[in-house]
This record gives sequence, C-alpha cells and structure tokens, in this order.
Amino acid sequence: MLNKIKKNQIFDLHLDLEVYFNPRLRKILNFKYSKIDKLEKNRHFDLVQAKKVNLKYAVVQIQAIYLKKNKLEPLLNFKEALYNLENFKKKAGKFFKIISKKSDLDELNNKIGIILGFEGLNFVSNIKDLEILWKSGIRVFGLCWNFENKICGGLWSNKAISSFGRKSIDFLNKLNAIIDLAHANEISQLEAIKIAKNFIFSHNNIRKVSDFNQNISDKVLKNLKNKKTLIGLTLLPKALKPENSFNSFLKNYKFLYKENKNIVAIGSDFFGFDFESSPKGAKNYVEFYKNLLKHKVNISKLFDNTYKFFYNIISTW
Ligand SMILES: [Zn+2]
Repeated sequence: MLNKIKKNQIFDLHLDLEVYFNPRLRKILNFKYSKIDKLEKNRHFDLVQAKKVNLKYAVVQIQAIYLKKNKLEPLLNFKEALYNLENFKKKAGKFFKIISKKSDLDELNNKIGIILGFEGLNFVSNIKDLEILWKSGIRVFGLCWNFENKICGGLWSNKAISSFGRKSIDFLNKLNAIIDLAHANEISQLEAIKIAKNFIFSHNNIRKVSDFNQNISDKVLKNLKNKKTLIGLTLLPKALKPENSFNSFLKNYKFLYKENKNIVAIGSDFFGFDFESSPKGAKNYVEFYKNLLKHKVNISKLFDNTYKFFYNIISTW
C-alpha cells in the first residue's frame, strides 16, 4: 500500500493547478505563462519543482468564481462549470494522472496523481447535477466558496446548511465522496462534521495561532477529536498571521501537531494567490520544502495521514 522506500513525499490537499491551464484564471492572478515541464523559480510550482520535492499526489479543485468588472462573482452556469472541468482534464491529463477509481493508483507511471474537485458548488441546483459531476470524475466536493449557495453558507455568509444541502450530503455519502469544508462558515462546518461521512478542510490554518476567518475555530477543532479528517495547513498569505511567512506556517503546524497529529496535512494553495504576495520562506515549492526539512517538520507523517485517508476511500470507488 504505502511506498515506504521514499521518504519525505508530499501529498498536497490543495494545489490550484487549474490556474495554470485556464487563461481566464491566469488573468485574475496576473500569472505569467511558461512551459510546465521547465524549471521556473518565479512561480509556485512546475514539474521540475515537483520532482525536487517528491510531490506524489495532489487534490486539484476547479474554480467556481469569475471576475466581472473587477469583482469576484459566483459561477452559476452548470454547463460552463462542466466545460471548465472537461477543459482541465484534457489539458492536464497529458502531465498528470487523474485518479477517479482504485485501479488508477496502479497506473501512475511516474506521473503525479491528482484527485479532482470543485471549489464551491454555486452552479449545483439538484441531485442530478451532483451525479453528473461524480460521473465526470469529481471526487472532492467543496460545498461552497465564500459566497452562500443552495447548499450552505460560505465565509461571507451567515447561512446554515439548507434542506437541499442535507440531501446533497446524503447523496455524496452514498457515493463515498469527499466533502471539503475549507470555505464553509462555522455553522455549516459544525453541522457537516456531524452528517458527512468523509470530510476535509483542504487549505486552512488554526485561528488560535493565526486569526483569520478561513482558519479553523476552536469550537470546530474541539469537534474534530476522534474524527477521521484532515486539515491541510496552508500558505495562503491571508491565513498566515501575524506575518506572511513560513514561520507562521510552522507555528500552525506545531500547534496542530500537538493537538491532533493524525489530522495534520499540507494544503499549499499554491497558484491560488499571486506569486508576488508569496510568503517569505515559501515563495515556491522548492523553498517551502527546504524549510520543511530544515525545521524538521514530520513530512512523512503528514504524507501518511493523507495517503491513508484517501487510500481507504479510493479503494471503494
Ligand atoms: Zn480557497
């Protein structure tokens, strides 16, 4: 099951690779395009960097937002969301192995395995839509981004999980899908923790250490005791307080590792913010990894946590 020979492998719970393959998103992040198989230190990630840091797996979520007159708006059109997904699969499929069933794990052929998700379900209005997403290879369902939608409330909303939201979670439970609560508000998170079979927080730090609304509150953290879940500690600059640096990341890691070492993971959110605002000491994957090693972060434990969680679920797909 586990490749025990290679040490310090990485399983990234949140790598925003779609940005790389989608020109519309590149514009939002002022992203300078160049070939992904070439080393380019002035960007978060490429295939050369991935090799240097032993990146084996990543969860990649398709965005459900777009920029309209300099304002972020929720993507509401289901067909457009599906188009973005298919476009990503076509372009990224050349470089990465998309994992949607167990046998895919055995067919990596030295490629990085990626598990697909959506970061927000603004465009979903019935169970049939969820079924189509599942059939199209979506395995991680970010219930909402910061907006509220028909399912639940995001970080910019006070809305709780709706009755349609509960039906959606029931349906996803039957599929043994994974629910991502990264951008859900506290009230939605607390309920989802009770009713969702498999759930993660793909890119969140800890509010007690870094005070930011996307980070996990004390109340939520207490409710995660004895739960099988993962928190992907993140490099998202706003989630790193008091300073935008690797040092803040390390403080979050130390806190959570002490609190509950079995749920600690990495969700870099690389490509999810612009390169210019990258944290000090983690401006790209290579620099981030060097600091993980230097500060004796238990990289193998974080990989094992994540791999085991996913392996048990993927085995049922
Ligand atoms: Zn996000």
